[in-house]
Parts: sequence; C-alpha cells; structure tokens
Amino acid sequence: MKKLDGFSADELFATSTGLAYNDFIILPGYIDFAPEDVILESNLTRSIRLKTPMVSSPMDTVTESRMAIGLALLGGMGFIHYNNTAEEQAAEVKKVKRYENGFIADPIVLSPDHTINDVIAIKERFGFSGIPITEDGRPNSRLVGIVTNRDFDFEPNHTRRLGDVMTREVITARHGVSLLEANDILKKSKKGKLPIVDEAGRLVSLVCRNDLVTNREYPLASKDEKKQLMVGAAISTKDDSKERLDLLVDAGVNAVIIDSAQGNSIYQIEMITYIKKRHPGLDVIGGNVVTEEQCESLVRAGVDALRIGMGPGSICTTQTTMAVGRAQATAVFRCARFARQHGNPVIADGGIANIGHIAKALAIGASATMMGSMFAGTDEAPGEYFYENGKRLKKYRGMASLEALEKGGSKRYFSEESKIKVAQGVSGAVLDKGSLFDYMPYLIQGLKHSFQDMGTRDVTRLHEMLYGNELRFELRSPSAQIEGGVHDMYSYQAPKYM
Ligand code: GDP
Ligand code: 5GP
Repeated sequence: MKKLDGFSADELFATSTGLAYNDFIILPGYIDFAPEDVILESNLTRSIRLKTPMVSSPMDTVTESRMAIGLALLGGMGFIHYNNTAEEQAAEVKKVKRYENGFIADPIVLSPDHTINDVIAIKERFGFSGIPITEDGRPNSRLVGIVTNRDFDFEPNHTRRLGDVMTREVITARHGVSLLEANDILKKSKKGKLPIVDEAGRLVSLVCRNDLVTNREYPLASKDEKKQLMVGAAISTKDDSKERLDLLVDAGVNAVIIDSAQGNSIYQIEMITYIKKRHPGLDVIGGNVVTEEQCESLVRAGVDALRIGMGPGSICTTQTTMAVGRAQATAVFRCARFARQHGNPVIADGGIANIGHIAKALAIGASATMMGSMFAGTDEAPGEYFYENGKRLKKYRGMASLEALEKGGSKRYFSEESKIKVAQGVSGAVLDKGSLFDYMPYLIQGLKHSFQDMGTRDVTRLHEMLYGNELRFELRSPSAQIEGGVHDMYSYQAPKYM
C-alpha cells in the first residue's frame, strides 16, 4: 500500500509530550462537495443527537435559560449551572422546556399599584415599555390591563398609579393558540402586544408585534419527543444533589452532567449508580476525565457520555496550582479512542477558542465540544455588558475562582468544607460577541468549510478516517505556529469572530 503523507493520529500522539490544539495541524483531503453538503450532526450522549455539536459550559457567567434556549434553537444544547438553589436551577430548566418560538414565557409584569416611574425604569434597563398589568404584579396571576408608552406619554406626573392610566380593554388570546394565529390577531388588531391567558384569565405569555418578522423557523433545533427544546443541567457529587436531581427531572431536564474537576472518584461513581437506578431513562454525562483509566471507571459505572478536560479552560489555574491535568488534545484523543470501544461519545471541554479548535477536537475523536469563554461574551450569557478602556465587555469567571467559590461553586472541587479556599480559576471579562443568533451560524458555516478542507461530509466519516489512519496530521514547530497565524503586518483589522 502507498505510504500516505503526514502521520496518523496514533503516530502523532505516540510521544511523551502532551499536545494542545495549536501544536498540530490537519493535512487537507480531497474535495468533491460543497460546504452546504456537510452535515454536522453528532452524538452528545449515547442517545442524544445534536445537529450542531456545540454545547455551553455549566458556569454562572455562561449558561442560564436564555443561553440554553438560543443554543437549542440553533442545534446545540446548554447546561444550566448549579451555583444557585435547586429551585432556581429547576426554574431555569423549566423556562427552556416551556419555550415556544415567538411566545415570551415570562414577560415582565407590574401591578396596578406600581407607577409610571417603574415603567420608565424598565424601559431604560430592558428597552421595552409594553407591560402587562396583573392583579398582584406577579407573572402568573389574573391580567387586569396593559400599559404602553401611549398610555402615559402626555402625562407629566410620573408618580401616578398604573391602575389609573392603564388600558383595561385588552385584546388577548387563549393559551394553546398557534404562533400563526397569534400573529394574525396582532395584525388584525393593530396592537403592539398580545397577552396570552389561560381559562381563568391568568397571564401565560406575551407575543410582541415587533417580533413578527423574526418569528422564524429553526430547522436545526434540538427537540425531544415532546417537541420541547432540549436542555441539560449540572449537579455535583455531593449527597444534597439528590434532591436537586429530582427537581431537575420534574422540570424535564434531558441530561445531567456530574460536574467535577477530577471525575475518577468514589463519590462520582456512587452518584452515577444512584442516578441510573433512580432515573434509568436519564442521560448522565460523567467527568471530567483525561486518562483512559479514569474513563474506564466511569464507563463501568454506566455513564452515557464523558466530558474531557482538566486544566485547559481559559479561566483555569488547575494545572499550575495542582500540578495535575493533561494537555487537551492528547486528553481528547486518548479518551475518545478508549470510549469508542464502549460506544461512549466524548465531549471536548475547555480550551476551545476558535472554529479551528472545534474542528480539531472533532477530528481527534470528540463527538461534541463544550465552550465557556466563546459563549460568555454573547447577549444570551447572564450578566450585563460594561465598558473598560473603551471596549464593551461581559464578565466571565471560573467556577473555582475565589469569587464563584464564595457564591457556592466549590462543589466541583471537593472543597466545600475547607476553611481555606484554594482557587483553581480566575475571574475577568471577555469581549462583546453580540447575539448568539449571529455568532453560531458563523461558527457552523466555518466548521462546514473546515470539514470540506479535510475532505469529509460528516462526523461519522471523519471518525472513520481518523481511526482508519486516513486522516493525516503533522506537529507544528513553534515557528510553524507563528507562520500559521497573522504575521509581519504593520496593522490589520481582525475579523469580528475567529
Ligand atoms: P415596547 O413597545 O416598548 O414594549 O417594545 P417593543 O415591542 O418595540 O420591543 C419589545 C422587544 O423586547 C420585543 O422584541 C420582545 O420580544 C422583547 N421582550 C423580551 N422580553 C420582554 C418582556 O418581558 N416584555 C416585553 N414587552 N418585551 C419583551
Ligand atoms: P473555556 O471554554 O473557557 O476554555 O473553558 C470552560 C471550561 O473550563 C468549563 O467547561 C469547565 O470544564 C472548566 N472550568 C470552569 N471553571 C473553572 C475553574 O474555575 N477552574 C478550572 N480548572 N476549570 C474551570
């Protein structure tokens, strides 16, 4: 047989040096198809398949319901963090499960006793002023009116009660109405807002006229058999996670991640066994692991997928402080190769900073990728933007940064009881990335181009090429890495996304 140029992945990773994504390059294959022919569908777990193999980290500056909804609509999936109470986490899961395209499930409401000033404050903070008024100002209570700009724009006294200025004759629709019908009612009534109420007149959701044009279909959406968006959630290995788990399952969670920095522990194995017994239908993702021996422990305990990475995260100081971990590309390759023999997909978690890293993670055996920093700067991440040195930023912090530990994030690091908390992460900020709905399509398209260059139309074939030694690699010397980036320019305009 003709000797192929370059090296197989087995040869590439056969050294005692741990490799990062930047240390190697993939040699080009043969192209006989367009990027549009590429299908990125892949397994997240044994039973969950995603059309976009990208998921978000369970971190308190990355994933709450808004991120999870956005990602699920675009074919990925979000994992709700657990740096909150069990009730709060389950409520975030419920918001994703209840989401219906075009219907705002938890609109901001006020009571008749609030004032015009309260509406103005909401307008300044969130940008809208169409506010349904319910009897007691709570979301799920009886609708008694609606306030919009037009109800008070000529009213100089902003301390007036909303009960005195609101419109009481509200056109509403019954819960269960389709988006098409709701849009039709809005068009005919020429109103800006359509509150959706149940049979007792309680507010269920809101449809906005302004959204009519953007109420589009999402062909990639990750949906379960009930046609609801899919969502994951993190739990710890601690005993009190058992209650949390039940609440999450009641809320409809599709998969749980056992969030632990070093997954090969008796605590995790017991937790996996417990979950599999109590909720046999629930998918459990174990981790984090980086060696074949760690994988074996969790595979034996019955996981449905493995999460790979110890220390490569952008906010992470584990390898420096603990002296334990592994270079991420080596970890992904070895764990994926091992897990494949047991039918387990692996998720490459941490250290992914651009489309090339996503492509490389998949090319060395991962079935899905998990990102924190890449998603943290989007509109859909929790928190508000702020400015520093003229740049628009969002906060991003490690779950083992001192700041997050103080809020309860230490469950991941077996350090909850310790008086002295040793940080394994930092807190800081990332650049504004705009909306996930612009960013993800860019990542998806970029990844399709990468697949085309590698000469593969889908992930299954990519992995066949990998394990059949058809996919060829090469190490990059330090100067090859410099050469492979932008260089020798006096100045240049970096693209918005990489
Ligand atoms: P308004 O007329 O001042 O209320 O604002 P618009 O109708 O022009 O815009 C409101 C936008 O905010 C729409 O795109 C809504 O989907 C979005 N939105 C998100 N959450 C809410 C909410 O709780 N209430 C309202 N009124 N709009 C929301
Ligand atoms: P990123 O995508 O930002 O490079 O990495 C995100 C990943 O870093 C998370 O999914 C998680 O595995 C890991 N991580 C999150 N917070 C911390 C932390 O404080 N310390 C460490 N060591 N890892 C973290």
